[in-house]
Amino acid sequence: MCNLMVNRVKRRVSCLPKATYYKPREVPLCDLEIINLSIEELEAIRLCDLLHVEQNEAAEMMGISRKTFWNDLQKARQKVVDALVNGKAIEISGGEYVNSGECKVEFLCKGCEQEWESQCNEGRPTSCPKCGSGIICRIGGDGRGKRFIENDYCCPKNKGKEVVNAKAGSVEK
Ligand SMILES: [Zn+2]
Repeated sequence: MCNLMVNRVKRRVSCLPKATYYKPREVPLCDLEIINLSIEELEAIRLCDLLHVEQNEAAEMMGISRKTFWNDLQKARQKVVDALVNGKAIEISGGEYVNSGECKVEFLCKGCEQEWESQCNEGRPTSCPKCGSGIICRIGGDGRGKRFIENDYCCPKNKGKEVVNAKAGSVEK
């Protein structure tokens, strides 16, 4: 716990997750333990384990010391394996980070089902570029800690199962 101060440093993150919630199938949300994986913890495993970036370089990319990076990485790996082995849900949200805006996010218009990409750092678009509708959503959630069950988020193309899950989850709230 002596590194609490160090952990206040904002990590530079260049990719936000495409989905922010994972849960074991057929287990009601109310019976699950939810593990919160922060955006920067996900970034640490993404850089190290997915892209195989060398740790010194990864730490530099995130603007933190190698030791802090290592701590983030260990915490992230611990959480992911805990969820996988013990059947827990993972919610990816929150943390101390700044978005360096190198990644793209996808948006979906609920009016005409147009999908388009936008840079992370351009902010949320206010309307659909095709039909002008303001009813748009980010595909996979916005990574800022809003659970999609609370947003009533579902992809119009997969209506049915998702909606049932969302309803069941919100009833338990
Ligand atoms: Zn549209």
